[in-house]
Amino acid sequence: MAFGLPTLLRGQAGKITILDGGGTNVVAFSTSEGLILVDSGAPKNGDKLLSALKAFAPNAKVQTVFNTHYHLDQTGNNEVFAAAGAKIIAHERTRQWMSTDYWVPVEDRFENARPKAARPTETFQTTGALPTGGEQIDYGYLPLAHTSGDIYVFFTTSNLIAVGDVASPQRDPALDYFTGAWIGGRVDAMDIILKLSNEQTRIVPSYGPVMTRAEFKAERDLMEEVRARLWKQVREGEGPKEMLEGGLLNGLSRTWKDPYKFLYDAAKGLWAHHSKLDPNVV
Ligand SMILES: [Zn+2]
Repeated sequence: MAFGLPTLLRGQAGKITILDGGGTNVVAFSTSEGLILVDSGAPKNGDKLLSALKAFAPNAKVQTVFNTHYHLDQTGNNEVFAAAGAKIIAHERTRQWMSTDYWVPVEDRFENARPKAARPTETFQTTGALPTGGEQIDYGYLPLAHTSGDIYVFFTTSNLIAVGDVASPQRDPALDYFTGAWIGGRVDAMDIILKLSNEQTRIVPSYGPVMTRAEFKAERDLMEEVRARLWKQVREGEGPKEMLEGGLLNGLSRTWKDPYKFLYDAAKGLWAHHSKLDPNVV
C-alpha cells in the first residue's frame, strides 16, 4: 500500500492517503464531516479496506465514494459503503454500464448488471464540485478515454488528481472500444488533466505508483505517438496483426504485456471513430 506518501502529504498532513483496494489504488480523504473515497477497490476487499480506513481515520464514516469508471476493480465494494449510508458519485454513463448486462467481446461472455445497491446514487454529465472540510473537490468528465464514463477527481488544496485508468504507468493502457473509448479520446482526456495541473500536482492512476505531472505528460506524449502511427496504418487498411508484425509499437519507451490486444482494441476504436479520419478513407 501507500505509494510515495511522504511527499504527497506536504501541506495536508494526515488528510489524504492511498490505500490498497486489492491491487488497485483507493484514495481516501479525511474531512471533519467524514471520509471521501475515490473508488471502492476490487471485489471481496471490503473488509481489508474498512480496517485500513479505520487505522487512517478512526471513527470516521465514509460519506462519499467517487467511481472513476464502471470496472469491477474500481466499484467492487460500492455495496459495502452504500449500505453504511455513503453517497456514490459517478458519471451517468458509469451508472448505465453498471445497470445493464453487457457483452465482453474479448472474454466472449456477458457481464451481469450490478445489483442496485452497488450503483451510483448521484450522477453528472460534465463537471461538479464538492466543497468539504477545508478542501475544494472538483470533478469532471474525461470523454472516451478508457470507457465512456471516466472521470477525474481533483483535490485542489492537496493538489492531487485521481484519474482512474486514464493513466496507466503499470498495466497496458486499455481501451473499452465497445463503450466508445478510443485512443484519440485518451489523448484529449490526458490534455484535460495537463491543463488542470501544475508541476507540483500528484496524479493517481488506478494501478501503480503516484505519478508526477512530468511522468503523466510522458505517457500522454507516447499515447499521441501511438495514435499517429495507428491512424496512418488504419488508413493503409492494416489490421492489428499486420500492425504488430510491422513493428507499430517498436522503439517506444514502454513495452506492452499484450501488444496484440492493445492494437486490436485501439484499431477497433479508431474505426468506430472513422468520421474523424480523412473523409476519403472509407
Ligand atoms: Zn478500468
